[in-house]
Amino acid sequence: MTHRAGRHFLQIPGPTNVPDRVLRAIDRPTIDHRGPEFQAIGFAVLEGMKRVFQTKNPVIIYAGSGTGAWEAALVNALNPGDKVLMSETGHFSTLWSKLAKKVGLEVDVLPGDWRRGADHEAIERRLLEDKSHAIKAVCVVHNETSTGVTTRIPLIRRAIDNAKHPALLMVDTISSLASIDYKHDEWGVDVTVGGSQKGLMLPPGLGFNAVSEKALAAHKQSKMPRAYWDWSEILASNATGFWPSTPATNLLYGLEVAIQMLEEEGYAAVFARHDRHAEATRRAVRAWGLEILCAVPEEYSSALTAVMMPPGHDADRFRKIVLEQFDMSLGTGLTKLSGKIFRIGHLGDFNDLTLAGTLAGVEMGLAVAGVPHRKGGVDAAMEHLAAEATRRSSVR
Ligand code: PLP
Repeated sequence: MTHRAGRHFLQIPGPTNVPDRVLRAIDRPTIDHRGPEFQAIGFAVLEGMKRVFQTKNPVIIYAGSGTGAWEAALVNALNPGDKVLMSETGHFSTLWSKLAKKVGLEVDVLPGDWRRGADHEAIERRLLEDKSHAIKAVCVVHNETSTGVTTRIPLIRRAIDNAKHPALLMVDTISSLASIDYKHDEWGVDVTVGGSQKGLMLPPGLGFNAVSEKALAAHKQSKMPRAYWDWSEILASNATGFWPSTPATNLLYGLEVAIQMLEEEGYAAVFARHDRHAEATRRAVRAWGLEILCAVPEEYSSALTAVMMPPGHDADRFRKIVLEQFDMSLGTGLTKLSGKIFRIGHLGDFNDLTLAGTLAGVEMGLAVAGVPHRKGGVDAAMEHLAAEATRRSSVR
């Protein structure tokens, strides 16, 4: 392979660019995971993740990807044959519902068009119809990584409360955690699922379950077969700063530093930065004359933007040109969106100039690929970023 000068732009919506400080933290000798040095790290990350999820309850950290954390949420809090209500918001909600079927749950899916978040009114109606309370959990994806659409979790909570339904609320925040504001306790979520490779700026390999007291009570009654994922065993061990099996020691080094970085910047500033980059990206897309996949402005994602290709133009051919010519990876269209959209990831360790470079790569790529568009997207984004910078510098 030939050497490519400069840094690769990893602008898929996760895994995201891992900052040097996290890489340096991971690049340390692996230590005894039963020793005192590790114990201090164990306690630090377990406490730190509570702040990330905005919860006072425990957060379970697995060596495993987000898919594992999805499975863990279901097998710890439910019983064989239980009914779960899921909303089809895109590729990832669909995968979670398939997983739920595989572990022996009965899945009721509310269909969707992949351009909007979970329909809280439809959820409320379905729960009101469920007089016998057969539905044991409502599962939604906070940020659909395949579409760039968010679901407003407080509306889902309200739908469950309006229906006076006892179902647990389970939420996937794999591509929103630490990028888009998320309040596990305040929003009354019972199990929140997370992963390491997006807003947390780590490599893939850690999965998370934040839990509520109601979820822990359900866990005590849960008879689903499980072993590795069992919350009880892990929580018992975590009480002493350790894990029952070998944890991903070096990823936990990175996690400790990633949490420090988020807290040095401040969570409010992290979320505002993601909002600003998302808004600048949307202005660029509109200036190019292209369409944003998300159909509901209140549900725009601050982590990524999915852009629709003009008919007759293949998004993957365009992505290939951008990769070959400008060394940038953009997100592909998944399953039914294959070839029809590309996704710009603007989450994680990302600043105004990384966004300007990313959008420049997209604009040049559109020209090289012969995709009909207007010039000026990068200018529109820069104008927004400069206005925001002016506002920030004047309030100092
Ligand atoms: N949920 C969402 C929203 C995701 O974006 C992803 C992965 O991108 C997953 C679940 C699956 O996680 P993993 O690929 O880490 O198993």
